[in-house]
Amino acid sequence: MSGSAADRLARQADGYLVTQLLHTAVVLGVPDALAGGPRDAVDLAGELGARPGPLHRVLRGLAAEEVLAETGDGRFALTDTGRLLCAGVPGSLRDWVATRGGLYFGAAAGLPAAVRDGSTPYETVHGLPFFAHLSADPARLATFQAAMADRSAREAGAVVAAYDAGGFSSVVDVGGGRGTLLRAVRERAPGADVVLFDLPEVVAGSDLPAAGGDFFTAVPAGADAYLLSRVLHDWDDGDALRVLRTCRAAMRPDSVLLVVEAVLPERAADDAAAVRMDLHMLLLLHGCERTATEYAALCAAAGLRLTRDVPTDAGVHVLEARPA
Ligand code: SAM
Repeated sequence: MSGSAADRLARQADGYLVTQLLHTAVVLGVPDALAGGPRDAVDLAGELGARPGPLHRVLRGLAAEEVLAETGDGRFALTDTGRLLCAGVPGSLRDWVATRGGLYFGAAAGLPAAVRDGSTPYETVHGLPFFAHLSADPARLATFQAAMADRSAREAGAVVAAYDAGGFSSVVDVGGGRGTLLRAVRERAPGADVVLFDLPEVVAGSDLPAAGGDFFTAVPAGADAYLLSRVLHDWDDGDALRVLRTCRAAMRPDSVLLVVEAVLPERAADDAAAVRMDLHMLLLLHGCERTATEYAALCAAAGLRLTRDVPTDAGVHVLEARPA
């Protein structure tokens, strides 16, 4: 093995440390504390309730990852990457990082078992299916939904730029979470009647017109358009088909269903993010990422035909389906 291959492998094996460095920064509030300018560990420690020595080592670790920059006088400043860990900034990945380092981290150690015996590590660790475990604790559910909104904020603009939603007069966002994509669609289709549909505990308190329910049972009927963004990948083929059939039953003959998902590439290296997301599904849920052909087959089994596959600039595709 060449030196550079060994270096790369050693770095990959240390990925667990990088996840926890980012998570520690978020949990302690380091990025927000540095938003006003560079500071050193002694200065930060009191405010963050930390010990200066270990905090300095974490700050140095973050600088090695180019999340922070050293100013040369013992202080640390946010880089452009580090600024994305601040709360409430455009494009923030703060809650995204919090799910990786907190909620999901324990499950990752169960990957060998998942491969050997087909278990779902998140369920092994927490004793409950993923969404039931989230719903059991409001703070946990809020962190997950905020992480979804982080990602959706990056994707929603690209989705409506790639797919013209301007003609819709009624739209239901099925499993819509905080409704980030639905808001982007409504901006393109002003005046459209929109409904955010998700579990009752998720839509409670939403400022969007909302309905709580179970997408395995029924979703609001008769809309022009149904959105299913990052929903099907959470489920195995049997359950994904149940969701599609529920949507199909609610659709008019001229309704359209927009499935927003990453689409697995032919070669893994062509879309490493989609392949990583597939591994998340293996760890957390019973779902998987799929190829466009696999989505077309699922749609066909639900009485839908895939009419368009529209790639976006954000890595996801908009798969348009209509009643067959
Ligand atoms: N569509 C959002 C997005 O793109 O960010 C959220 C996607 S998130 C991966 C999946 C969503 O499905 C969550 O908001 C979750 O609460 C919702 N969900 C899970 N089970 C559900 C059920 N049985 N009925 C309705 N919604 C459900």
